[in-house]
Amino acid sequence: PIHDAVLGRAAALGDAPALIDGTGGEGALTLSYGQVDAFHRRVAAGLAEAGVRKGDVLALHSPNTVLFPVAFYAATRAGAAVTTVHPLATAEEFARQLRDSAARWIVTVSPLLATARAAAGLAGGIREIFVCDQPPAGPEGDGVRSLQTFLGSTAPDPVPDIDPAADLAALPYSSGTTGVPKGVMLTHASVATNLAQLEPLMPMGPGDRILAVLPFFHVYGLTALMNAPLRRGATVVVLPRFELDGFLAAIEEHRITALYVAPPIVLALAKHPSVAGYDLSSLKYIVCSAAPLDAALAEACSARLGLPPILQAYGMTELSPATHLVPLAAGNPPPGTVGKLLPSTEMRLVSLDDPAKDAAPGEEGEIAIRGPQVMKGYLGRPEATAAMVDADGWLHTGDVGRVDEDGWLFVVDRVKELIKYKGFQVAPAELEALLLTHGGVADAAVIGVRDAEGTEVPKAFVVRQPAAAGLTAEDVMAYVAERVAPYKKIRQVEFIDTVPRAASGKILRRELRNRA
Ligand code: ATP
Ligand code: MG
Repeated sequence: PIHDAVLGRAAALGDAPALIDGTGGEGALTLSYGQVDAFHRRVAAGLAEAGVRKGDVLALHSPNTVLFPVAFYAATRAGAAVTTVHPLATAEEFARQLRDSAARWIVTVSPLLATARAAAGLAGGIREIFVCDQPPAGPEGDGVRSLQTFLGSTAPDPVPDIDPAADLAALPYSSGTTGVPKGVMLTHASVATNLAQLEPLMPMGPGDRILAVLPFFHVYGLTALMNAPLRRGATVVVLPRFELDGFLAAIEEHRITALYVAPPIVLALAKHPSVAGYDLSSLKYIVCSAAPLDAALAEACSARLGLPPILQAYGMTELSPATHLVPLAAGNPPPGTVGKLLPSTEMRLVSLDDPAKDAAPGEEGEIAIRGPQVMKGYLGRPEATAAMVDADGWLHTGDVGRVDEDGWLFVVDRVKELIKYKGFQVAPAELEALLLTHGGVADAAVIGVRDAEGTEVPKAFVVRQPAAAGLTAEDVMAYVAERVAPYKKIRQVEFIDTVPRAASGKILRRELRNRA
């Protein structure tokens, strides 16, 4: 079970700090490993007494806090599968997830209680709502119990009969970048095995201090910022949201040793003037995942901070989540690679022209994966599952990749987002990376749009640097045209204030398509 895979050694680690509230200030909480171990067991006992049973789904609706992991492992120890909910979800979105997952319990935090109550009302079927902190006084908090009331529990640990290979530990929803979010069924074994697969390659241990700014509710944060460091005895400094100055100040104050981030943070670290004002010398390495990262941007970031090359990782919710990682020991991996295949995982590249064939060596193809980390399926969607995982167990990722002769994988882009310009394929990620190398460009996103003749053409949405107010569409188009083959030229430009992104850092191209 995942709670044992992560916290199996927690009691023995005793007073070593496990989780620190990185917001500091009055009442900032630190939990030792011994406390995390004791607290999650008592909360599990309390949840079991409240009626939580094996197979129930519990919705965890919270920004990153030091109590998030306690609530998560308490729920799994009580036998529940945890469906993590975006803390900014509207009541309607939350209710959709509650209904889809048939959740019976909610754990939230007092500032979000009103949304949770509204969602529970819309969805129905919720037996009890708990908060991690203290419920607000007055009618709003009426009848809501804090998980902290269970800390005095003397009931024995619940021992539900968990079958790790069959029972669900987590039911995250896919990011919804390309469609409606779907519940991804991850068993205890798939999540725990993926941690074990990553372990020899992920350089984390006691003495390491990891900054948890990406959300725990997303599978990348859940793995890289919660499960993996807590399993390894590292210290997790928790921040509820990304705000550049607070993030940099936390690195300085807590002597953070490693960052696990997504491309927008790499962009800020490479380009933002604030970075120079902080002492970031404690950092040893940076891992980046969740979306395409350009090699030149990665290089600019590590050069600026005096760090080894940024280590990329590749995965998806449906893969528990990782399949590839660049090990720190690799020294000088080829620029832009997302890593090598994890142990006991198989990969094929399926031909983009003929899905019955594999791509020729060195050629691009759709990445297909088989291994213990493949999801059990999408909850209640057998057709969507069958479209993703074939009869032989291969999960077709929808991502285009290429492997070099040494086995390094390069992710080109998503199959669905390739722009087809007069029979040529153009990867938006490549053009976005190029746009970011322009000094006047603060951020950029590219999509395919139809021009007046009905041809699909690349259109760039560009955020200007504050000092580049005079940058024109013609400047942008000329800059790109000088550097790419003619079929890849940007043919339309629109200036915007911010690029819409998901919490995991991915560009929400469908929002741009709606706008276009
Ligand atoms: P949905 O499937 O609901 O549209 P999503 O695919 O964005 O959402 P996630 O599971 O969060 O949901 O993201 C997985 C995707 O992230 C991968 O399929 C891939 O496109 C992208 N990705 C992950 N790591 C990398 C990486 N290192 N480089 C490029 N892309 C990556
Ligand atoms: Mg996906």
